[in-house]
Amino acid sequence: MLRLEGLTKTYKTGDQALTDIDLEVPKGQVLALIGPSGAGKSTMIRCINRLVEPTAGKVLLDGVDIAHLSAGALRRARREMGMIFQEYALVERLTVMENVLSGRLGYVGFWRSFTRRYPQADVDEAFRLLDRVGLLHMADKRADELSGGQRQRVGICRALIQNPKLLLVDEPTASLDPKTSRQIMRLICELCAERGLAAIINIHDVALAQMFVARVVGLRFGEIAFDGAPDGLTPDV
Ligand code: ADP
Ligand code: ADP
Repeated sequence: MLRLEGLTKTYKTGDQALTDIDLEVPKGQVLALIGPSGAGKSTMIRCINRLVEPTAGKVLLDGVDIAHLSAGALRRARREMGMIFQEYALVERLTVMENVLSGRLGYVGFWRSFTRRYPQADVDEAFRLLDRVGLLHMADKRADELSGGQRQRVGICRALIQNPKLLLVDEPTASLDPKTSRQIMRLICELCAERGLAAIINIHDVALAQMFVARVVGLRFGEIAFDGAPDGLTPDV
């Protein structure tokens, strides 16, 4: 599904963030990416969705190297990848429903000003997703009225309404308390299982990763230092 071959990133500053990374993520597999700050975790996620241009190597999505795509093809490839962020990145003045729809419709203000309504099939799907994450009753609330855990649930719905093949999740619980963090991790992993989605979850909290995923990849100084089941982890990874 996703394959990284010799992925290398050296920033213009000279920082060698990733060195010759080979990694394969099969369809439906949820993988936790761990490692100390500066190990290259966010660089790896950003190379996969091409927010960062790799210096060398390949990022193959279903066999297609996303390095050599036209702008339009890259936009389509990005639609196959749902992003979930640490700080949620919701539009505060929009409703929960509109934030979810923005995952599918892009700039929802456009739809509102031109059509006064959103496509019914998308609205139906947004209601289904909100129901699944327990936020149906909040659909008409503004994003800035929500708690952190509720915001992350909206972020999850916004990523899933794209119907992606792969979820890229960057520190989803870093701004949440321990109990909410566990709920959010459980929800992400359950949804991936229900939908056969692969995911790469960049997560600082090793114990949380051990609780929920079957495969952990540990990065250290831009290289893979560990790849296996979480019970094989030594404390210093
Ligand atoms: P690229 O090689 O991807 O073009 P640049 O070196 O041009 O990256 O930096 C992109 C941005 O990241 C700049 O705004 C820069 O200030 C910021 N940046 C530079 N060094 C670091 C660093 N060590 N960690 C995080 N961000 C950095
Ligand atoms: P992590 O997500 O594991 O904390 P990063 O991928 O953010 O690691 O950083 C890996 C290395 O790349 C670090 O040395 C960091 O300083 C450097 N780095 C990250 N972003 C940039 C940037 N935009 N420009 C220059 N160096 C960067």
